Amino acid sequence: MKDFDLAIIGAGIIGATTAYLAHVRRPEWHIALLDRSFIGDGATHYSAALDLPFGRTTRQRAMVARSVSFYCDLKARYPELPIREIPFALVAHAKDISNAAAAFIDAGLHLASAQEWHQVRLKYPDLTLPQEYLVMMGSNARHSSSIQLTSALVNKACNDRNVQCWEGSEVRQVEDIPCGHMLILGDGRRITAKRAVIATGPWLMSGPGGAFSQAAGIRVKKVAAMHIDWCPPPDAPVLYFAEEDAFLLPLPEQRKLLLSFTAQEWDCLAEISRLRINPDDRSLALSILNRYCPALAEHCSGGRIFCDAYSQDRAPFVARISTSHNLVVAGACSGSGVRLAPAIALEALELSDISVSETKTVYEESIGTGASTHS
Ligand SMILES: Cc1cc2nc3c(=O)[nH]c(=O)nc-3n(C[C@H](O)[C@H](O)[C@H](O)COP(=O)(O)OP(=O)(O)OC[C@H]3O[C@@H](n4cnc5c(N)ncnc54)[C@H](O)[C@@H]3O)c2cc1C
Repeated sequence: MKDFDLAIIGAGIIGATTAYLAHVRRPEWHIALLDRSFIGDGATHYSAALDLPFGRTTRQRAMVARSVSFYCDLKARYPELPIREIPFALVAHAKDISNAAAAFIDAGLHLASAQEWHQVRLKYPDLTLPQEYLVMMGSNARHSSSIQLTSALVNKACNDRNVQCWEGSEVRQVEDIPCGHMLILGDGRRITAKRAVIATGPWLMSGPGGAFSQAAGIRVKKVAAMHIDWCPPPDAPVLYFAEEDAFLLPLPEQRKLLLSFTAQEWDCLAEISRLRINPDDRSLALSILNRYCPALAEHCSGGRIFCDAYSQDRAPFVARISTSHNLVVAGACSGSGVRLAPAIALEALELSDISVSETKTVYEESIGTGASTHS
């Protein structure tokens, strides 16, 4: 039997960021991060990991602002982390472009000048704008390797002995006990924790806290992206097609582009052996390419497929289980878990422990002063 201040169930990007931030905030806490598989082996493993700074609602935009600030500070503090800034071009119909632009947190977002449009066309020679479509240029976006980033956050949190990450440790059940929770593991072990965060990604509805997530209307949706074997120039921007909610992400180091689009297969099983890129997915992806970059369609080779938990309003779901002592569910990232992970983690910690103002102060102090507790 081991006793922790905080247990986090699931070591995807949400669990890893929660562990990192909890450790920054409370270096004296004993924290357990438990995953039944490997670190970053769920939805995080398949992620395109693009951080485009937009949100459809006020809450989402506030989360975006918080997350952008975290990632910029993190990169400044640890320049070796696999996070790179990348310019983007927002493509939308003239009548929709101001609405689309209003969703972005990017003070520099502006209509592309003739010179900028010429530059974009140099990177994507067959980019075609449908009639009456406009392009805006932005710079406040980042791309990372989600697996490397997740592992790096866990490693930094586990730098001293107060934080432990146990892979291959499934949490079967969480029970209330007088001063917190007892976690019952699949291998027979039991641990106790004063507070716990459930961050099990697309398995939110089937594992601990499952009934609570089901009652909140969380569902699982397939998420897919196609690989296009065409080597982009190193400084090519991301193209975001607002109407289709799709983006074309240059991956020059892998000599390919990635087209992320919105697959509409709901309530799928979160098992890679059961998920496929089907003819509908492929034809949807090709229709987007044929519309904007027709010459790329013939280079569309394979792709990547998994799923994510979605909330009803597509905003992340972070809530304390009211019938429980101190148990918080954090997820339903709705296809945006990498870009919103810092804000989700902070909300989860605020709910599971101390007040918002205290969290902000401790977080800002530890990030803003550059004083590292992990060096
Ligand atoms: C193809 C694709 C492209 C994407 N592109 C982007 C993008 O460009 N930008 C973006 O922001 N997001 C993107 N996403 C979404 C993003 O990847 C997810 O929102 C995010 O990874 C979810 O993270 P998570 O930590 O909630 O879940 P996961 O990464 O699934 O982690 C959950 C973890 O919990 C563990 N677990 C489950 N049950 C238990 C249990 N009972 N006990 C212990 N451990 C358990 C699992 O093993 C897993 O490691 C994409 C997703 C996909 C599939």
